[in-house]
Amino acid sequence: MATFRLAAFQKLLERESVPVKREADLTSDYYGMLVFDRAKMKKYLSKEALKGVLDAIDNGTTIDRKIADGVAMGMKAWAIENGATHYTHWFQPLTDGTAEKHDAFIDHNETGGVVESFSGKLLAQQEPDASSFPSGGIRQTFEARGYTAWDVSSPAFIVGTTLCIPTIFISYTGEALDYKAPLLKALHAVDKAAVAVCQYFDRNVNKVIANLGWEQEYFLIDEALYHARPDIVLTGRTLMGHSSSKDQQLDDHYFGSIPERVGNFMIDLENEAYKLGIPVKTRHNEVAPNQYEVAPIYEEANLANDHNQMIMDLMKKVARKHKFRVLFHEKPFAGINGSGKHNNWSLSTDTGVNLYSPGKNPKGNLQFLTFVVNALMAVYKNQDLLRASILNAPNSHRLGANEAPPAIISAFLGTEVNKMLDLIEQNVSDKKMTPEEKTSLKLNIGRIPEILLDNTDRNRTSPFAFTGNRFEFRAVGSSANCASAMISLNAAVASQLTEFKKEVDEIIDSGVKRDEAIFQVLKKYIGICKPIRFDGNGYSEDWKVEAAKRGLTNITCVPEALEAYLTETSKKLFTDQGIFNEKEIEGRVEVEYEKFMKKIQIEARVLGDLAINHIVPTAVKYQTLLIENVKGLKEIFGDDYSTLAGNRMDIIKEISEHITAIKLKVGEMIEARKKANVIENEKEKAYTYDKTVRPFLDDIRSHIDKLELIIDDEVWPLPKYRELLFNS
Ligand code: ADP
Ligand code: MG
Repeated sequence: MATFRLAAFQKLLERESVPVKREADLTSDYYGMLVFDRAKMKKYLSKEALKGVLDAIDNGTTIDRKIADGVAMGMKAWAIENGATHYTHWFQPLTDGTAEKHDAFIDHNETGGVVESFSGKLLAQQEPDASSFPSGGIRQTFEARGYTAWDVSSPAFIVGTTLCIPTIFISYTGEALDYKAPLLKALHAVDKAAVAVCQYFDRNVNKVIANLGWEQEYFLIDEALYHARPDIVLTGRTLMGHSSSKDQQLDDHYFGSIPERVGNFMIDLENEAYKLGIPVKTRHNEVAPNQYEVAPIYEEANLANDHNQMIMDLMKKVARKHKFRVLFHEKPFAGINGSGKHNNWSLSTDTGVNLYSPGKNPKGNLQFLTFVVNALMAVYKNQDLLRASILNAPNSHRLGANEAPPAIISAFLGTEVNKMLDLIEQNVSDKKMTPEEKTSLKLNIGRIPEILLDNTDRNRTSPFAFTGNRFEFRAVGSSANCASAMISLNAAVASQLTEFKKEVDEIIDSGVKRDEAIFQVLKKYIGICKPIRFDGNGYSEDWKVEAAKRGLTNITCVPEALEAYLTETSKKLFTDQGIFNEKEIEGRVEVEYEKFMKKIQIEARVLGDLAINHIVPTAVKYQTLLIENVKGLKEIFGDDYSTLAGNRMDIIKEISEHITAIKLKVGEMIEARKKANVIENEKEKAYTYDKTVRPFLDDIRSHIDKLELIIDDEVWPLPKYRELLFNS
């Protein structure tokens, strides 16, 4: 076996699972021990500081300097007691992942020594250099300076020896340069809009919270094998590799028993997550070999998203400890399932009602239907924006690829809710309903809870599925920051609810009773958004035809999908609600174009290198061996050699053909890149990369994968799929 691959294997055989010690037997005994939560605030803050910060968290009041100083003092004391020596503003720039710059808690004292110090000013605001973070033109036109500002709604936490303070990241002129700032604005918008609608049903509602429960899928591969695959190291996915004879055909991995080494990784991860107050609850094997999932109990969306970012970071660290590497790439291995991150989303009130749970009485159900129908309308009207919010280079491998959400956005409702909507559409005529009609409708609505409790009709092929008490937005990619999807979804729903309220109020003003007015608007909406409702198989070819007839869009090209951010409707949606200004939208899309282009650029470079300096030399070596063999046969058997050596001569030719093709195509790919690289406009460059560079990746790969099947396994340099996928 080629030395690199062999060495990896030897290490693998020596692996022992790393035993894990949980912090305490009972999770509740140490849950949140590294979080500056309310309980710690009570203990470490003065009465005044506590009141100020809780007021800010619960009611959005601003924190003045004195309060901030008080909070900083308590936070510092707690952090130092728990081993922290440094603090950092922790933020989520538009890269993949989070950013932090650590500063020690020290300052000079009068006698030339140092003293531990931290102030309200340092807690509230910092000024990192923004020039090395993507901003999509915003930083060129303005200043390089950027600010991070404390997000009081997400508690500070300790990682290692550092106190991490969740912050937003904005430019000197106030434009958002991160995911968190617009997410908070979108959540605020949906809160306001939903409260206004809730008031029709319950005057006591003062706040509506958007909830998020993410399901994080990932692959684990052994560290030694990982290092023997430069493509995985540099791009997060395999750029070559023939499929394994056995992979997921037998469905024997899904929900299967968890291998011990992996199990220990999971326990360790959960232990660390609990210390950080991340409520992880579910762990299981996923469909593909070596693929797994972790999911928490859902939380308020901003906190849930912070927790997702934190756990992704944690997973990388804990995986190393167990000599694994975790892959978040949406499609690390061709031909088998990739990884997503379902975003379970719902709205709930401060009166304890989940607006997506069918109510216990007709009034509650009318409210439930109001929120369902408005969500459908939002998805219908903003299908392109929602697609854009989840689409990037890695996720494009999944989308429309028959294993993950299709590129057509549609919504699954299930039999019972569909029945309800159909009933409203048919029964509520433009004239007033008869009492019988109303009763029958109410009765039917009233039956929803029983039936939904046994929510069996689940549809895994729908990108936006109602699952009994929430919608699952299933198109989100495993490596994504959920905020991207959550900003668009909540903004769309907020805007829709506002429009709904306006329409209903107008009808009420014309003298119609409130419930009647709501019914009328819902009926109208049900008619309008009908095309988005689809409970069938989202992967089928028939659906593509049907969806086109319904006027739904079907876009798999990333640069094209991203344009949805720039339409007048999308811009208006965001600017009207103060979530983004135009500059921010344009900047953000430019960053996406740039990221898309760069990912393909890196993949093309890596593939080109590996093809030329790993694969071609190996192929030549093996071919030379065959040539020697044929020569030997000729020496011994004279003219009869050709019958004896026939198939070897065929292989020699076949290898030559592949080598020639690889060399030619790598050359062409380099030329295509050169041409694309001089394009200055990011959008045009992304399109050009997609159209002229990207196709080479599959093309070159197909030749390499064929060589993998012919060439002596002894000399093949890279761990194969069967090795990568079945060793943990
Ligand atoms: P599935 O069967 O869909 O794979 P999981 O248990 O893996 O379910 O994950 C479901 C996720 O949905 C969890 O994070 C769970 O807390 C979350 N969830 C449950 N109810 C709601 C809700 N009302 N709103 C948002 N998320 C929810
Ligand atoms: Mg799940």
